[in-house]
Amino acid sequence: MIGAGPVGLFLSHLLGQAGIRTLLVEKRSTRDAPSMAIGLMPPSLRLFAQAGLADPLLTAGVEVQTAVVHDQRRPLGRVDFSGLPPPFPFILSLPQGALMEILRERLSEKTSVRFAPGRQAIGVIQEQDCIRVQIRDLPTGRISEHGARYVIGCDGHNSDLRHFLNIPISSKSYAPQFVMGDFPDTTDWENAAHLFFTPTGSIESFPLPGKARRWVALAPHGAQDTDALLHQVKTITGWQLSAHEEKWHSSFRPRRQLADTFYQGRAILCGDAAHVMSPIGGQGMNTGFADAGHLAALLRQALRSGADAAPLLAGYDHDRRRAFRIAANRAACGMWLGAHQGGLFSAMRSLLIRRVLLRPPLVYRLPAHFAMLTIPRGPIPDLEAS
Ligand SMILES: Cc1cc2nc3c(=O)[nH]c(=O)nc-3n(C[C@H](O)[C@H](O)[C@H](O)COP(=O)(O)OP(=O)(O)OC[C@H]3O[C@@H](n4cnc5c(N)ncnc54)[C@H](O)[C@@H]3O)c2cc1C
Repeated sequence: MIGAGPVGLFLSHLLGQAGIRTLLVEKRSTRDAPSMAIGLMPPSLRLFAQAGLADPLLTAGVEVQTAVVHDQRRPLGRVDFSGLPPPFPFILSLPQGALMEILRERLSEKTSVRFAPGRQAIGVIQEQDCIRVQIRDLPTGRISEHGARYVIGCDGHNSDLRHFLNIPISSKSYAPQFVMGDFPDTTDWENAAHLFFTPTGSIESFPLPGKARRWVALAPHGAQDTDALLHQVKTITGWQLSAHEEKWHSSFRPRRQLADTFYQGRAILCGDAAHVMSPIGGQGMNTGFADAGHLAALLRQALRSGADAAPLLAGYDHDRRRAFRIAANRAACGMWLGAHQGGLFSAMRSLLIRRVLLRPPLVYRLPAHFAMLTIPRGPIPDLEAS
């Protein structure tokens, strides 16, 4: 497996749980912990539970059960996740870096998995019965070759594996730009998320572990520094953040990217290597985890039976491409709703939100929709060791 981002680490756990021998190479040898993605959705939590990982994640994260939606004058309504089916009637807020730390630490428990940081995949050769991967040991420069039944590229949006295989992508950038930062939580909102849609911009605010809070704003006039974020938060919500207390900062212009195929021969793409969507809505990493769940089940079946994996891989491509399209369209729709400014659009948006949030039946369907429970899933992996 190539790439120990969140998706590669999690897939290694799933394969390890099934007793599948796995080599995980990661070109970075440092353990930097970017905050990035923060929401673990219930379908992902179910998969983590299957891999025996739910308890440490629940201990480290914050359970978000409510999202309150405001316009410039008042709260418009709320989305209540507490009625979602057990055992996870919430979205777990846990920054990507902290999640990866837990996944790395616990990987040593999976005895069939070898984690090799500081190693970069630099090429692959497909053969009839196996695939050979060339790996450079970055500290020494030494190059070695490893044979495997399958190679999985969890190597991110610029996937090297995708380049080695010459798999084309379709890609587009969206116009809106966003700025985000993590700060100590000085609000009295506790574990609730708050979303603001106003004529001068939109703000999203989510609780984080350690009494902290993530703030995301539509970048005013493209300005993406901390001062721009602080200004928008103060203007729209009234809360005053302090620049020197910012724990993490990022700005981004969302993109949508999709590989033409998710596999070629014995090489398979997973997570951002296969697809990228707008981070608005918090679905990108979760879609990668669902890819990993599907792949783990598929590989276990193929390796156990020794059967040709091609039909299973065609199913993976079809199912995960469909799930991506649904999630990416929802992300684009949420972004469109938040990105438009001006009085008239804002008044119509407030009307629409109130209708949806206050009246059945949509208000009952929204929590499952936002928690990704309505996105079709692949098979849940049977993770008993083979
Ligand atoms: C600002 C921002 C906020 C986001 N917020 C959310 C959110 O709230 N919720 C959500 O679900 N998603 C969110 N996302 C998306 C999420 O961060 C990504 O979907 C996720 O990081 C993808 O994980 P991955 O493991 O597929 O790829 P990556 O995280 O990119 O990991 C790829 C890994 O592969 C390694 N690698 C690359 N090439 C090689 C090679 N040749 N050899 C060895 N190793 C290699 C890299 O070093 C890296 O460690 C956000 C993204 C951004 C940018």
